[in-house]
Amino acid sequence: MSYKVRCWECGREIENPLLDACPSCNGNLTVEMDLSHLKGTSPRDLRSRPLGVWRYQDLLPIGSGQVTLQEGGTPLYDCDRLADEYGVRQLMVKFEGANPTGSFKDRGMTVGVSRAVELGCKVVGCASTGNTSASLAAYAAKAGLKCVVLLPSGKVALGKLAQAMFFGAKVITVNGNFDDALRVVRELSHSGDLYMLNSVNPFRPEGQKTLCYEIVDQMDFQVPDRIIYPVGNAANIWAGYKALKEWEELGWIDKMPIFTGVQAGGSAPLVNSFAHGQEDFRPVKDPETVATAIRIGNPASGKKALKAVYDTGGVMTAVSDREIIEAQFLFGRKEGVGVEPASAASLAGLKRLLDEGKVSRRERVVCVCTGHVLKDPDTVMANCGQLIKTEATAEAVRQAIKN
Ligand SMILES: *Cc1c(COP(=O)(O)O)cnc(C)c1O
Ligand SMILES: [Zn+2]
Repeated sequence: MSYKVRCWECGREIENPLLDACPSCNGNLTVEMDLSHLKGTSPRDLRSRPLGVWRYQDLLPIGSGQVTLQEGGTPLYDCDRLADEYGVRQLMVKFEGANPTGSFKDRGMTVGVSRAVELGCKVVGCASTGNTSASLAAYAAKAGLKCVVLLPSGKVALGKLAQAMFFGAKVITVNGNFDDALRVVRELSHSGDLYMLNSVNPFRPEGQKTLCYEIVDQMDFQVPDRIIYPVGNAANIWAGYKALKEWEELGWIDKMPIFTGVQAGGSAPLVNSFAHGQEDFRPVKDPETVATAIRIGNPASGKKALKAVYDTGGVMTAVSDREIIEAQFLFGRKEGVGVEPASAASLAGLKRLLDEGKVSRRERVVCVCTGHVLKDPDTVMANCGQLIKTEATAEAVRQAIKN
């Protein structure tokens, strides 16, 4: 296992392991894996290890000393009933709510916290809309590290907040939104107060690559036509693209899927620039959406996400909060799978793109559903009917059922 950390923009090699941006051009960083030892092998050779992040350890920048909660290995559901409803040939859902803390963030965090331990860091921290903090708090607990999380004031889903506090993180809400919290945590990381584990840390997307490795592995090394992600800070879709580029270069797959990103209408800076064919984007000032996990106006990996989409002939689209909630409930009631609002954005985006004719009904599509429904119980309750209350008699209940 060997690798280099490079600037994704100018290619400069980065030696200092504590940097989160390029000292020459301020560009995003990325890990460049040397995979030459895998040439001539088959991904089937990896199947002696259980499905999960560490099945793919030969493609990850961590040797021994893994901090793991057995993350990954999540279901890939074949959703016939929803496919019928939407009118598409095949719809599969990669259900990331089945991870240890209930979101895909655990994939990145097992690698990121392993890296923190390798570097001898004692305090880890992040800015978060919720799931990153829940995940980091759990892995920090497992590794015996101190953990500091910065949350935007208000608009953090209850389940995520409860998790971060439960696992013993120091939870601080800052007077501002996610973008403000990220700016502050980067500053704390530069001054050496903590090791930052937001997804601008290039080790995080390395773990998140495994989401796409698993999809292809679970499809017995067939490649779906399209993979659709909800997009917030935008590292996850890029990690998926990076993953399958690596496999393509190894000759493990013979085509790339079309990477497609969905943002919420109230926080859609990348959709705006995609519409104009631009490679860069203008931040949105006051992002707003019920899908709090993607309520981000200045996506730190936005340019990478656009590259993933352009390079595979994909699209970026926006959906309204109403479309998101509709998709969330329809999915739950057709397929028995509960996801949080941000996750349902991928489904809502698929529906919209089918209706607009931008996705063919003959495609085999995978939607990534990023987090569990229990993350945000308040939004569920706000969109359900009333609870029914009766006297404790069979007759009263019979009446209630009739009504
Ligand atoms: C973090 C997160 C996202 C967004 O992922 P990015 O890598 O920031 O684009 C989407 N959904 C959920 C549930 C998340 O926790
Ligand atoms: Zn650079």
